[in-house]
Amino acid sequence: MSRLLLLRRTTQLIALAIVALLPLLDVFRLDLPGGQVIVLGNHLWLREFLLVILGWVWLVVGLGILAAFVGRGFCGWICPQTLVCEMANAVLGPLRDLTRGKQGEVDLELAAQKRLLHSPGAIALLLVTALVGGLIVTSYFVPWTMMLEALDSGRPSTSLLKAIAVGTVLIAGDLLILRHTICRFFCPYGWWQRLFWRRPALAIRFNRSRSVDCTNCGACWQVCFMGLDPRKKELEKACVNCGKCITACQRQLSPAGKPGLLSFDLGWGSRSLLEIVHGASPTGLARAAALVVLLAAVTTGLVWGIAARQPVYATMSGLTRLDRDPDGSLRGSFVVWVYNNTEKEQTIRLSAEGLPRESVDFGGTQFRLEAGQVDRMTLSFAVTRDSVVPGPHRLYVSVQNAADERLLSRTSAPFVFPPSMISSLPTTGTGTAAQ
Ligand code: SF4
Ligand code: SF4
Repeated sequence: MSRLLLLRRTTQLIALAIVALLPLLDVFRLDLPGGQVIVLGNHLWLREFLLVILGWVWLVVGLGILAAFVGRGFCGWICPQTLVCEMANAVLGPLRDLTRGKQGEVDLELAAQKRLLHSPGAIALLLVTALVGGLIVTSYFVPWTMMLEALDSGRPSTSLLKAIAVGTVLIAGDLLILRHTICRFFCPYGWWQRLFWRRPALAIRFNRSRSVDCTNCGACWQVCFMGLDPRKKELEKACVNCGKCITACQRQLSPAGKPGLLSFDLGWGSRSLLEIVHGASPTGLARAAALVVLLAAVTTGLVWGIAARQPVYATMSGLTRLDRDPDGSLRGSFVVWVYNNTEKEQTIRLSAEGLPRESVDFGGTQFRLEAGQVDRMTLSFAVTRDSVVPGPHRLYVSVQNAADERLLSRTSAPFVFPPSMISSLPTTGTGTAAQ
């Protein structure tokens, strides 16, 4: 194994481990049943739409800017799809016949690959890889603990089994049928990177001044899993900078005592940033400036949004019910949702302003909120004709820490006591008017 390949495999395996660990360590995962996105242990509710969108914009723009420097290096050095498809190439043999048009004797281990092709062991390995991949993909939506408990109990839910099955079948189909075709033609991130690809970005360069040294052996394009000929212009936006062609060419020419004809080229060579900026076109500069401003604005918004989040906050519905009771009172209710954004259990108290205090009932005095959970509570009230004023009002609900009475969050909703309903209630004496 060449040093370049060893380095690339190391980064690919580290990236694969990170992808597998992100949901396990709560660094990033979606909790669909809970309606949350977990980012670095922070529970972002899907309803905090702006923060979630800002996070995605940040990621997308950041990866685009990365592509402007390293081309599609992310695909070749980090993306797990490339790693598992290269594994499939090695175990099952390449999807297309790379020996087609081969000139000269090039040992690309294709014969060994073909021996393994369609062997039961190779197919079993592929299916196990697909199953592990399906479990990892599912863990981005369902926590590992929940998934393992459900599987261990022997009675996993149908939706969990369906999710794992869909992930497994898609990955198996990818490994068996599509592989790098996805990378080259269908991957949205691949196309996104192409949009940002500009000279100077990291790329493979064919030394044209020494083109007479090229023996036309075909080793460089035969090892290319993206189906490119690195000597041609076509590679510019599809090449994932894996460097396999560089090593293949070096191997071909080294017996003749010649260096390889292919190398990595960072494009800007020894030019300083000032020289690059000076040489850039006005539209190129405008595009770069717009991206930098966008990334800075999104980063600021994201950091501010996460820092300003309340550890516990509440929202409430409008009036969900307003009925006349046989006992002559008017009964109604609101729904209050209290979100615990912290990793700790919280004990809270709720209070309301805007209705006669004695008429309000939350169904309890203290509530325990589990870490990262949302609780739905019902505020019901029963008022008499003399205790309220007909017309529009606003109800305020406060959430306090039960231990030290600290105010954690406050929410409100407008509502109306219809004059016709109030006037139809029996008079019971003097009461407290709504605030
Ligand atoms: S052209 Fe070379 S560096 Fe680019 S994808 Fe093909 S083998 Fe990898
Ligand atoms: S560039 Fe190198 S590997 Fe490719 S055909 Fe020429 S000699 Fe062979």
